[in-house]
Amino acid sequence: MISFSHERELDIETLLRRIQGYYPDADVEFIQKAYDFAEKAHEGQKRSSGELYITHPLNVANILTSMRMDIFTIVSGLLHDTIEDCDVTEEDIRREFNPEVAEIVVGLTKISQIKFRTKEESQAENFRKLVVSMAKDIRVIIIKLADRMHNMRTLQYMSVEKQMKKAQETLDIYVPLANRLGINSLKAELEDLCLRYMKPEIYYRLAEKVAMKKSERDSYIRETVSTVEEKLSEYSLDADVKGRSKHFYSIYKKMRARGVDFDQIQDILAFRVIVDNITECYKALGIIHSSFTPIPGRFKDYIAIPKLNNYQSLHTTVVGPKTERIEIQIRTEEMDSVAETGVAAHWKYKEGMVSKNTKLDWVQELLQFNKEVYDNSDLLDAVKNDFDTGGIFIFTPSGDVQELMYESTPLDFAFAVHTEVGFRCVGAKVNSKMVPLRHRLKSGDTVEILTSKTQSPSKDWLNIVKTSRAKSKIKQWLLKQERERNIIIGREVLEKSLKVFDTSLKKIQKSGDIPAILKSLRCKLEDDLLVGVGVGKITPKMIVEAAPSIEIEKVEEKLSEIDSYSKKLATTVRKKTSKDNAVIVDGMNDVMVRIARCCNAIPGDSIVGYITRGRGISVHTTSCSRVSPEDMVRSVPVEWNAEFAFKHPVSVRAITNDRPGVLSQISKIINGMNINIKSAMAKSLPDSKGSFVFEVEVRDYSELLKIINTIESVEDVISVVRV
Ligand code: MN
Repeated sequence: MISFSHERELDIETLLRRIQGYYPDADVEFIQKAYDFAEKAHEGQKRSSGELYITHPLNVANILTSMRMDIFTIVSGLLHDTIEDCDVTEEDIRREFNPEVAEIVVGLTKISQIKFRTKEESQAENFRKLVVSMAKDIRVIIIKLADRMHNMRTLQYMSVEKQMKKAQETLDIYVPLANRLGINSLKAELEDLCLRYMKPEIYYRLAEKVAMKKSERDSYIRETVSTVEEKLSEYSLDADVKGRSKHFYSIYKKMRARGVDFDQIQDILAFRVIVDNITECYKALGIIHSSFTPIPGRFKDYIAIPKLNNYQSLHTTVVGPKTERIEIQIRTEEMDSVAETGVAAHWKYKEGMVSKNTKLDWVQELLQFNKEVYDNSDLLDAVKNDFDTGGIFIFTPSGDVQELMYESTPLDFAFAVHTEVGFRCVGAKVNSKMVPLRHRLKSGDTVEILTSKTQSPSKDWLNIVKTSRAKSKIKQWLLKQERERNIIIGREVLEKSLKVFDTSLKKIQKSGDIPAILKSLRCKLEDDLLVGVGVGKITPKMIVEAAPSIEIEKVEEKLSEIDSYSKKLATTVRKKTSKDNAVIVDGMNDVMVRIARCCNAIPGDSIVGYITRGRGISVHTTSCSRVSPEDMVRSVPVEWNAEFAFKHPVSVRAITNDRPGVLSQISKIINGMNINIKSAMAKSLPDSKGSFVFEVEVRDYSELLKIINTIESVEDVISVVRV
């Protein structure tokens, strides 16, 4: 177990010796040079504790050493505050050391210049900046975490206000990051320190309780360790067994989750069994399960299915020698080192080379995510949520595995496989059966995603999906659509309004006025300007006033007219381009219109609208049986919006002979027509008949008829009706 405690007396000689412990050929002079450089740069500076400043970078380097980091990382750790706090430049470091070290230190300086505020949104923004800094070199973040670790270790010298602020920030940003990077030793310690400053009464009560039974527990741990070791050696398995109390924060989390007091928490002990190879891991598990009673449902195989951060281990809980529940983790030495130091394990010095090309899929993914996600809090969510709450394992038809959250749907799985698969998902087969998108997946399910080129996400999907990854992707798509729509509206409104001034967008672009207009209206891009007009934040009047080449005196009269004109224009244009309103309600703007689910009217159907209480206007077919005569008094004339790109769900039921393959034949034919199957449900009927109800998206009535006719032509299909 790695410990990161603050060492007041630490000196460079001790540090060098520790480095040589795992890296005998280390370039001692290079490290010594970095130390001398930092000591000189920080000369005269003191920490809040009264100690010389150099103790801080020295301790940070020591933390990196205990994680067995490479020499450049340790050197960068020694130098990490020199640009920020001293008269040292990037150039100085590049010259005295090398460009790689200089780049890392610059990265750290940039991070430390992020202004931390307490609002959740700005925390998320800060988090994004940290992620961006990882893009260049992930060691920047590892050093930053070590820096934060040492600052948390010496937090007692700060004011109470600062303690709270730092602890909160650590819990919000650095703990999730350490978790995601798999640096568990660091994460656990950071959490405990956060608890100590944020909930001192709980922390010290826990500390006291743990200390109270310490000797009793220590002897229990010793006995259990030797019992387990004995059992293993009976089968000639040589293992290193260790026991410890769990971290305070994890005990605290358990207490909170179960709503119980400390005395009621049973399994506060964790044991670790380290063996030589994977085969021995499973062998050890078998021996332990046959020697102690395992608790059902507590076994987890993270060796076969590693966690997102590459964590591997077998977990089980058994009834220990004294009928107390104990948690046991079984893993190899290598897995243990990844579990303790996560991503840092890849930077270890190995056989004369530092492995730089370690592929970290999730880091790449996060970086990609960072580029695409507009909303910062979504990014933070993606890191925090998807991670802690995994729980079910889902298989692809080819046998690949994805870990998802409990209650995830096929749609979540589709997004986990690939964003594009998510966007195009129309349905899924779970264990070879068609299911609706809302279906809740269970561990062990084999899921095959059905896609269609014409499919695209809808707002409803946000209510279906469970994982934040899928949620962000959908939100992001919807936002992009919304933005594109507003650009179209903005452009049309602007073009028409500018005609009043005998000018046009093109003329303004040619006149070179655009940069001045953008600056005066605080927009970055021309598109932002159009979006502003589209949503009504920016009026054409404002643009005309901001254009240097238009002489205001000459157009003053027209300016007053233009405002009311462009407002009207915006409403009409928005209505015309509306994607939400498939139906135009006579004489009413911006009224909420819903197509009633009972009859699912589609263009071509004869329709009528009814005013509902609080839910806008509900549109039915004129022949709908759900509409009662009393409703007629609330009716309003409505018509189909010809401009609307229609895609409307309608359900169709096919009754077939129960022949294998008939269902897939039907879905193939529908997909072949470029029609979306939104959901599908198959059922066996008596007399070897089958019923297949599916929801498709159609443009209009004629398309629906085409679908019905086509399905009717499939062999063994008895009847097809719209339901
Ligand atoms: Mn620092």
